[in-house]
Amino acid sequence: MSKRIDRIALPSMSPGTDRYLKVHRYGTPGARPKAYLQASLHADEIPGMMAAHHLIRRLDEADKRGEIQGEIIVVPVANPIGSNQVVNGIHAGRYELRGGGNFNRRWPDLFAGLIEATAGKLGTDAASNVAVVRQAIGDKLAAMTASGELSVLRLELSRLAYDADFVLDLHCDDDSHVHLFLIPDHWPDGQDLAALIGAEAVLLAADSGGASFDEVFSSPWAKLQEAVGAGYPVPAACLAATVEFRGRADVFDEIGEKDADALYTFLQRRGLIAGKARDVPSPRCQATMLDACDVVRSPAAGVLAYKVQLGQEVRTGDVIAELIDPLADDQAAARQLIRCQTDGKVLSRSMHKLVAPGDSIAKVVGSKSLAYRTGLLLED
Ligand SMILES: [Zn+2]
Repeated sequence: MSKRIDRIALPSMSPGTDRYLKVHRYGTPGARPKAYLQASLHADEIPGMMAAHHLIRRLDEADKRGEIQGEIIVVPVANPIGSNQVVNGIHAGRYELRGGGNFNRRWPDLFAGLIEATAGKLGTDAASNVAVVRQAIGDKLAAMTASGELSVLRLELSRLAYDADFVLDLHCDDDSHVHLFLIPDHWPDGQDLAALIGAEAVLLAADSGGASFDEVFSSPWAKLQEAVGAGYPVPAACLAATVEFRGRADVFDEIGEKDADALYTFLQRRGLIAGKARDVPSPRCQATMLDACDVVRSPAAGVLAYKVQLGQEVRTGDVIAELIDPLADDQAAARQLIRCQTDGKVLSRSMHKLVAPGDSIAKVVGSKSLAYRTGLLLED
C-alpha cells in the first residue's frame, strides 16, 4: 500500500479565510508511467468531480491489492477558488471573480525558453531527450514564483502535472454528449481513451489559442520537435486531454461510476494498474479538426427554441434553433432562424435559453475545416 494524501495550502486572500488543494497520490514518486488527473477546473462543471470520487474509490482498492504500478495523482477538486464562487445562489465557476479570467485559459507557457534550455543537450536517443525536456520544464517551474491564490494554484497544479505521461483534465459542456480535446500528435494514439469514455467527438487542434491546461503540457513536445528537426527525436511524451463528460446536469452515481471505470481501464491499459483491462469498445466517432466544429452563435438577444436534438445529423443551412424576440409587437413574426454552417452532428447545446448577440448556442461537428474558424478556436 503506497497511497498518500497531501494538502497544498493556497495563500489566504482575505483575513480569516484560506483554501487548499487535496492531492491523492498512488504508487512511487518518479515511477513510470505517470498519470495526472484533475476535476472541475471550471468549478461549476461537476461531472468530473463525480467521476474522480468513484475513481479514487477504485484506486484505493487497487492500492490495497498492491496493483498500482506507475505513479497516479488525482486532484478531485482542482479549483477550490471557483468552487466557492456562488453569487446570489448562482455558481459562477468558469471565470475568477477577482478578475483573473477564465480558469482554463492563459496557463503558463512551458514552451517559452525550452529551445534554449535544451540546446546542446538533445541527442539521437528519444528516451534521453524525453528526460532532458522534462528536466528543463521542471527547472522552469521550480524557478517560477507566485503570490496570489490563483497564480499559486496554477503553479502548484502545473508542478504536479508537467512530467506525467498522461494528463486528463475532467470538464463538461453545457448540454452535451461526451467529447475529447487532443493535439493532433496524440491521434490515433488516444483512440482507446476516446472509445472507453464513449466520446461522440474528438476535436484536434495543435493550438486552440487559449493556452488551456491540457495544451500547455502536450504542445511543447510537438513545438520543440518542429524546432529542432528530425535529427533530434522528441516524442509527444505527454498525452494531455480535456475530457468533456457530457453536460453540467449529468451528475449521477451511475454515470460517474461508468466514467470512472473508463478512466480506470485506460490507466490499466497504459500500464499504471496491474491486471487485464477489459476490451476497448468500438469507437463512436473519428477525430476531426477543431476548426471543423461549427460554433453556432445567436445573432441577437432573445429566447431560444431548439429545433434539433443532441446527436442529430444536420446539413449546412439546417435550422438549429429559432430565436424569439419576446418584445416583438407581432409575436406571430417574432422568430428568426439560426442555421448551422456545416454538415455534421449536433454535439452540444446551451442550457441558457435567454441569449445575447454572439452567444454560442450549439456546436456542430463537421468534417471540413471552416474558413471562419481561426484564432481562438475555443468558445471563450
Ligand atoms: Zn470546462
